[in-house]
Amino acid sequence: MCGIVGIVGSQPVAERLVDALKRLEYRGYDSAGVATLDHGVMDRRRAEGKLFNLEKKLSEQPLPGNIGIAHTRWATHGVPNETNAHPHFVDGVAVVHNGIIENFSELRDELLAQGAVFTSQTDTEVVAHLLNHYRKSGMDPKAAMLAMLNRITGAYALVVMFIDAPQTIYAARFGPPLAIGYGKNEMFLGSDAIALSPFTNEITYLVDGDFAVVDGSGAEIFDYNG
Ligand code: GLU
Repeated sequence: MCGIVGIVGSQPVAERLVDALKRLEYRGYDSAGVATLDHGVMDRRRAEGKLFNLEKKLSEQPLPGNIGIAHTRWATHGVPNETNAHPHFVDGVAVVHNGIIENFSELRDELLAQGAVFTSQTDTEVVAHLLNHYRKSGMDPKAAMLAMLNRITGAYALVVMFIDAPQTIYAARFGPPLAIGYGKNEMFLGSDAIALSPFTNEITYLVDGDFAVVDGSGAEIFDYNG
């Protein structure tokens, strides 16, 4: 087990994301990372080991932005190092994932044959490449998410940002828990209500097969047929 947090809001998010990850430390992890989007720039900090290491990087090189996603990783595919830590980035797509993509090897072969270049050993990276592939073929972020969700099998909580959708976070759940938190002009995502407790006590838990589109004013929840 491990943790996910996301915030789409009206105030800087990086510090609040890491604070929320601290409340998920009880779930165990071996590395951590955070990504934000600010004025068309998507950037991230990642670190092996304890959240203290991530905080140190963030204090040396802060991440601006009012929208972001964060992750504590418990490695299942690939060693626990910075390169394998989430968020995974492919061409303006940022992905954090808890769980296992069971058909990652077949998807990776397919994506490699199309010219994708993989930079980590994780199963998660196929999700970012698949989304990039569908975006490049002309789909908007929501359609790309639905197409991706209809290709992957396994267990996952997934939270995604797209560089060209700077006010929206996309999420899906099949297995590991994921909750949406409702704030004032801000919305939150987290592995559980404890992670989100300082932000809000209004929570919706996603159920298996839910896909959510979350922006600063609310959330819409769909099934995988949209
Ligand atoms: N399977 C993914 C990985 O190894 C996610 C692990 C997790 O749940 O943190 O990176």
